[in-house]
Amino acid sequence: MDLVVATGNPHKVEEIRAILGPHGVRVLGLDDLGASVPEPDEPGATFEENAAIKARAYAAALGRTVLADDSGLEVDALGGRPGVHSARYAGVGSTREERDAANNAKLLRELDGVSPDRRTARFVCAICVAAADGRVLATSRGTFDGVIIDAARGSHGFGYDPLLLVPDAGCTSAELDPAEKNRRSHRGMAVRALVHLLPSIA
Ligand code: IMP
Repeated sequence: MDLVVATGNPHKVEEIRAILGPHGVRVLGLDDLGASVPEPDEPGATFEENAAIKARAYAAALGRTVLADDSGLEVDALGGRPGVHSARYAGVGSTREERDAANNAKLLRELDGVSPDRRTARFVCAICVAAADGRVLATSRGTFDGVIIDAARGSHGFGYDPLLLVPDAGCTSAELDPAEKNRRSHRGMAVRALVHLLPSIA
């Protein structure tokens, strides 16, 4: 079975391929197809809505079965923010690195003075698999719990990884090696949940 992942991020494609490949799925990224499909807006109020919008838009444009994910960080003391706005929380920066740095600085400002026991948070990933005719074939969700610390630590990963302390690992998500992060992460959990749903996708 072929499954196109609606992302230009090769790390995401590799991560998903590592989990679904052994189950007989040929996982392709947009780059593998040489496809240039304009990114749809993500107006949804939830990760699930945005994943479905993306999966259905790409599936229709490519005429293929497509997997799309939407992810972000929910911070309890901020009522779940930045949530679906995680990627552009601070609203500045023209490269991913600039946006990540600005987002992390804003998060630290917003949590200034909030005690450690109230800094609980989680990464969330929603996945949707859609057919070319618009049918939703499968959905899944994964979460990755932690606590937002008050200064960045670690150099792996991206986004908010340096600020999310994973209590039972005793380090931040950016200090975990990539394989260990995949074993624990929201995206890994959501993709593994899909393995059981492959019969409904084929
Ligand atoms: P997207 O779903 O790839 O667009 O990710 C949305 C945003 O959520 C990213 O830009 C990051 O800011 C944040 N995010 C999602 N997953 C992770 C993760 O695994 N580590 C750190 N930040 C993440």
